[in-house]
Amino acid sequence: MLLVFLGPPGAGKGTQSTKLTEYFGIPHLSTGEMLRNAYSEGTKVGRLAEAYMTSGQLVPDPIILSIVGERLERGDFDKGCLFDGFPRTIGQAQSLDLSLKHRGTPLSGVLELRVDNAELEARLMSRGRADDRIDVVRQRLKSYHDATQPLVEYYEAQGLLRPIDGTGSPEEVFERIKKVC
Ligand code: AMP
Repeated sequence: MLLVFLGPPGAGKGTQSTKLTEYFGIPHLSTGEMLRNAYSEGTKVGRLAEAYMTSGQLVPDPIILSIVGERLERGDFDKGCLFDGFPRTIGQAQSLDLSLKHRGTPLSGVLELRVDNAELEARLMSRGRADDRIDVVRQRLKSYHDATQPLVEYYEAQGLLRPIDGTGSPEEVFERIKKVC
């Protein structure tokens, strides 16, 4: 079970990822979490990524591809994996396709969690993470719209897209997800 989890910030990917990885018994690969860890450990990658993250911009592809590549090489992905917050650009998606092709492990599906912008802003503002200020929130939504939204079409063209209504309780959303997996 090799899944990509798409959805704007605040759509509930974090909560649903925990449920999904437990349910399927697969590892969770969250680039946002990896970058936050790198930053708190004071690594070079963390220092490079910080300015992008705190202003709601995407971290450049080469940095992301290098941390994901390292993580994939560690090889605990026999049962599959849930990619959360990655890929976020067409370049990252093409690179992932290529590396999965080499490994002979194609994606099982791409889950797209859909929530409208007004509700996303409200959810993000009540969460209180360092990058959850209103101007940063808007920039993160814009980054999603500009760079990541095109992935919806990219994966739809491959027949992999599974859109999911992200409104309602976490349990309701999870039931919808299970139905399409
Ligand atoms: P997240 O926890 O997934 O919302 O990610 C937090 C922040 O980390 C994002 O706003 C970006 O600045 C950065 N980030 C995480 N994953 C990626 C990615 N795949 N590509 C570029 N930037 C990323």
